[in-house]
Amino acid sequence: GLVKHFALKSENWFDRSRPLVRAVDNVSFSVGHRETLALVGESGCGKSTTGRLILQLIDPTAGAVRFEGADLVTMAPQALRRARKDLQIIFQDPHASLNPRMSVEDIILEPLYAQGERPSAAMRTYAGDLLEKVGLSRRHAQRFAHEFSGGQRQRIGIARAIAPKPKFVICDEAVSALDVSVQAQIINLLQDLQEELGMSYLFIGHDLAVVRHIADRVAVMYLGRIVETAPKTTIYAAPRHPYTQALLASAPVPHPRLRKTRNRLRGEMPSPLNPPSGCHFHPRCPLAQDVCKTDDPVLRTLESGHEVACHFAELTAGGPAPRPS
Ligand code: SF4
Ligand code: MG
Repeated sequence: GLVKHFALKSENWFDRSRPLVRAVDNVSFSVGHRETLALVGESGCGKSTTGRLILQLIDPTAGAVRFEGADLVTMAPQALRRARKDLQIIFQDPHASLNPRMSVEDIILEPLYAQGERPSAAMRTYAGDLLEKVGLSRRHAQRFAHEFSGGQRQRIGIARAIAPKPKFVICDEAVSALDVSVQAQIINLLQDLQEELGMSYLFIGHDLAVVRHIADRVAVMYLGRIVETAPKTTIYAAPRHPYTQALLASAPVPHPRLRKTRNRLRGEMPSPLNPPSGCHFHPRCPLAQDVCKTDDPVLRTLESGHEVACHFAELTAGGPAPRPS
């Protein structure tokens, strides 16, 4: 099996800056070496918060984030600083995340300076090498981020993330702001770099169609909880959680077997401040029964590698039947 060099287990993590939101609720997953786990859900479901909690950019109130066996949450500051070298993030908006007053070279080398490296001719050469690795010219090193297109800025963000040769990179909606054709280029670049450098990715997105090209496994999140995890082929061919099925049926290119079902995603996601009782999905679920309003379904294994949090997961093969009346 996969070496789980990254594992996360949380019980009721609260973001200290938004203490009323149970951002991440009993979330538990792991990512293996050279593996890409896609974390997918509607905006506000807690997926970006999960990424920031992993990197300790947000101070979690409880839980553990194990990276190669060590817990980042309780790690001493010095050790955490060293561990940060191996844990990088690429943000959604390359404009907002790149400092407009810094040259591209300084932006790219920033994670190395943070590790105590000093500016030098060798570092400048390395910055040029990184620019070429992400498909830009080394002659761009002294320019500023605003001089580049959105796709080029995202390449700069990727160069910065890979500069310290990390083991684990979080791509937080890294292609969501880009045009479709540019999305494909950036995803290809991320895949090539993963192959070459042996990194693992947590690829956070809201669009199951986009993550399809890069994911090895997919975890679907709803209101702070993981509701389904499976290998990519299973998620797209045989989804079992009604929410996953609804996401696929609502996609611009609907899942062929789910196209005719009534299980389009209905209504808005409720506020994370006051999630519904029992199964958080019950107000929107075409299969909901009384038990769903009172009892939390636990994430359980249907078959090896396929976990679903639904009381009726045995009944959902091939898409949901209309709600019994
Ligand atoms: Fe729907 Fe009930 Fe399953 Fe929740 S537990 S997804 S409400 S059937
Ligand atoms: Mg891969």
